[in-house]
Amino acid sequence: MDVNLLMRENVQNLAPYSSARSLNIGADLVLLDANENPFDVYGRYPDPSQRSLRMALSDYYSVDFDRVLAGNGSDELIDLLFRAFTEPGSSNVVVPQPTYGMYDVASSLQNCNVRKVLLNDDFSLNVDRLLAATDGETKMIFLCSPNNPSGNEFLTVEIEKLLRSFNGLVVIDQAYVDFSSGTLWRNRISEFSNLVVLQTFSKAWGMAALRVGFMFADPQVIDVLVRIKLPYNLNEVTQRLVLERLQNSSVVDFRTKVVKEERSLLRTALQKMKMVNQVYWSEANFVLVKFFNSNLVFNRLIDRGIVVRNRSEEPLCENALRISIGKPTENRLLIRVLEELDAELNQNVKLEV
Ligand SMILES: *Cc1c(COP(=O)(O)O)cnc(C)c1O
Repeated sequence: MDVNLLMRENVQNLAPYSSARSLNIGADLVLLDANENPFDVYGRYPDPSQRSLRMALSDYYSVDFDRVLAGNGSDELIDLLFRAFTEPGSSNVVVPQPTYGMYDVASSLQNCNVRKVLLNDDFSLNVDRLLAATDGETKMIFLCSPNNPSGNEFLTVEIEKLLRSFNGLVVIDQAYVDFSSGTLWRNRISEFSNLVVLQTFSKAWGMAALRVGFMFADPQVIDVLVRIKLPYNLNEVTQRLVLERLQNSSVVDFRTKVVKEERSLLRTALQKMKMVNQVYWSEANFVLVKFFNSNLVFNRLIDRGIVVRNRSEEPLCENALRISIGKPTENRLLIRVLEELDAELNQNVKLEV
């Protein structure tokens, strides 16, 4: 795959904004180059090349520095991929359905055509169908694994087949990888020049409010995105808080373990309920559940002040609710409310007989 051929034409020739602060800031320098306020702790612009943060990510995940980049949420990185690699009006991307809605939004914003391809009924990938949907104008295939909203992971051999057969970027969004026991695609980044892996601090790392996502990719891909991103896309406070959290990751490990235990507990409880049609396997911090009447369940939960995500309008998701794993007390409350409703419904059935 030739990254230059894949790039949007005007991006190939783009001269990036040259920020005043491209050199490393030493402690002893007199900084009179950026019209900053010298009196305030927050007076200085953050490092546009995110050296400390990328270095820390590179260390933590054992991936080369030039293969890592952070964004203002992975949503920014998704947006940058479209700006860098799709030509408005003529390019297309292939996206399995159902999945995370942001690929569609970012694509439409750049006037790029989204070719939606259904997953199989069990939410597994249909590689042949995906490849059949590609043509010479297909720049990227987006795979969310573990997939939102279904929770399953796609088979490694199938993704490998896509990586080998498709002459464009295969973007694997691993926002939920910390909850899963499957493939860590970041470890395979040097094997495939067309592999892009997205991760985020918004889920297991508990920092959604701060907006930090990160990407692993071929150095050429990273380089393009560095050139087109806003120079100060990550604020200094956020960068520092993320650095701190990377040094105290044991709290993340502990909470992730709790979430996985709670996930298993919730699945077991749901499987016993008669109003439940199917509880899907999950490698994420949510569970997709098909009920016989999802609206009834959804409304009851709302009545009791519990908000879950109604996915019943999504393809293959008829009568499905996506339930995030909360704190243990919240999950107990959820289970109690659901068991109550289940008992009521059973009672009614018996009365009718
Ligand atoms: C939650 C989520 C993200 C996170 O996006 P951020 O912008 O990093 O908060 C990314 N991808 C998927 C599939 C998600 O569900």
